[in-house]
Amino acid sequence: MKVVTVVGARPQFIKAAVVSHVLRRDHQEILVHTGQHFDYNMSEQFFRELDIPDPDYNLGISGGTHAEMTGRMMMAIEDVLVNEDPDWVLVYGDTNSTLAAALTAAKLHIPVCHVEAGIRVHSMTNPEEINRICTDHVASLLLASTRSGYDEMAVEGLQEKGVLTGDPMYDAFIEYSTKLDVKDIVLKLLGGGETGVPEEYYYMTCHREENTNDDNTLLEIFKAAERLDARTIYPVHPRNKERALRLRDRLGTGKIILTEPVGYLESACLVRNAKKILTDSGGLQREAFFAGKKCVTVLDFVCWPETMIDNRNELTRPIADEIVEKLSHEQTIDSHYLPFGDGHAADKIVRALEEFR
Ligand code: UDP
Repeated sequence: MKVVTVVGARPQFIKAAVVSHVLRRDHQEILVHTGQHFDYNMSEQFFRELDIPDPDYNLGISGGTHAEMTGRMMMAIEDVLVNEDPDWVLVYGDTNSTLAAALTAAKLHIPVCHVEAGIRVHSMTNPEEINRICTDHVASLLLASTRSGYDEMAVEGLQEKGVLTGDPMYDAFIEYSTKLDVKDIVLKLLGGGETGVPEEYYYMTCHREENTNDDNTLLEIFKAAERLDARTIYPVHPRNKERALRLRDRLGTGKIILTEPVGYLESACLVRNAKKILTDSGGLQREAFFAGKKCVTVLDFVCWPETMIDNRNELTRPIADEIVEKLSHEQTIDSHYLPFGDGHAADKIVRALEEFR
């Protein structure tokens, strides 16, 4: 098989890494990077750390409105697909890169395989929801990471195209989250080398528009972090770096440790060893669950219903009191409950492509 994989954003590099390693054993993969994420520590670092081959095509497209970005990507991807004439186009998740590749391939009658299909948050004001729905409807093969995603397909008459494979993020977390020594990371970020004992910390990521587009919302989240019983490590996404730095300085108590985005090995290690997690990221919610860490998610919709049991992951409004209160809730963990598969989703994804009729 010849497969064109299209990626563009940080979480897609992580999933594509584990699938690509399996796919390339017996098949030809052409890797296209749209350029949606382009900073070294949002892109190239992931390729190096996760041993992803260099992209065959780098389209260099980022920024602009949703329509501009998607349209420019479609035009560039069309050239690639006409040139390569693949058996499949493989896409991940729910970004504009996902949508652009899926629409372009479908119009050229090239089958599309969508990994992480079937996710619905049931809100059309969430820009990724539109990408998810359109991609699932034009794709030929829908691979669900969880049972809830597979069940959602039935609601829209899509389940005939669906296969439940498990979550390649879980594969990646198992493979990569123990590669680094947390002591080195925490001492580097928080200091304390004198004692040699890394202090406890909360791990936070927060980058979605609804939480970072105005001062008051992000300030409430910071105020919550200020009240916790340990410092909070917060690698800031480039899109809200300026605001985050300004607000942190306004509060000025030093309990929030802002850093540049960290690589995946570091991030996964920080999740695994954190006291608790505060996030608005779909990926981090799941990683908190994989690591058995209590998570509070600053969003008003559920992306991963499997994580929302036994207080393991709770939604909160961006209100300091509510965040602190929810973080204090005790979770219970049933170690037999493994809704994200068995850590071999990548094998099942490649098998589903091979077996497709
Ligand atoms: N992540 C990372 N470095 C960071 C922050 C996050 O490697 O500085 C990882 C995180 O561990 C998770 C993924 O990036 O695997 C989540 O990506 P993001 O939050 O950008 O996207 P989302 O999950 O919201 O789609």
